Amino acid sequence: MNESLRSACETALRYPMTPHSRRHGPCGYTDDRAYKPWLRDEFSFRCVYCLSRERWRPDGQEDFAVDHITPQSADPSLAHEYDNLSYACCSCNRNRQDAVLPFDLSREPIAQHVEFAPDGTAEALSAEGRLLIRICHLNRPLLVEFRRRLQSLLELLASRGTTDDERLLRELLGYPSDLPDLASKRPPRGNTRPSGIAQSSFEQRRSGRLPEVY
Ligand SMILES: [Zn+2]
Repeated sequence: MNESLRSACETALRYPMTPHSRRHGPCGYTDDRAYKPWLRDEFSFRCVYCLSRERWRPDGQEDFAVDHITPQSADPSLAHEYDNLSYACCSCNRNRQDAVLPFDLSREPIAQHVEFAPDGTAEALSAEGRLLIRICHLNRPLLVEFRRRLQSLLELLASRGTTDDERLLRELLGYPSDLPDLASKRPPRGNTRPSGIAQSSFEQRRSGRLPEVY
């Protein structure tokens, strides 16, 4: 099994170790849904809170929502600001409602505060992590069960490593087939980070640079 596949197996349920640095900057949409293609790419097609991926959901991106980092109720002026938006599965988004996050996601990675145990439980590494787990219900029983099953499956496939196992791993850990073509979008007030387009998954796939798995 190649190194990138093995590494993707090991990190699928680990939060990124560094704070998220934005690569896109569309401006001026007044309907949040217009930001969704940008956010899908920005956050690698997975929920920032529970790490569920579009690929792991039967309805793909339909199960994901535009999430407001600072809730609209706390500051309505940020409601349509791209840098205040993130990408969350509908369950985390609904559970969180208008709760204020216990730390700034752009300065501190969630990895500093929460990690997933081998049995699928979300474990707090700090008081802020405890609060985040509670706010987003990261230990909801069906989600813990799903993580435990997924972890076991990834370990089994990686340890056997047959051609069929590798094919299944590429399906589980690959990018969705419907990558958004961001170069075709025309945000009403432009894009403050236009160089991000070349780094988008769609453009990387087009030029053969997109990793097979992540
Ligand atoms: Zn989630």
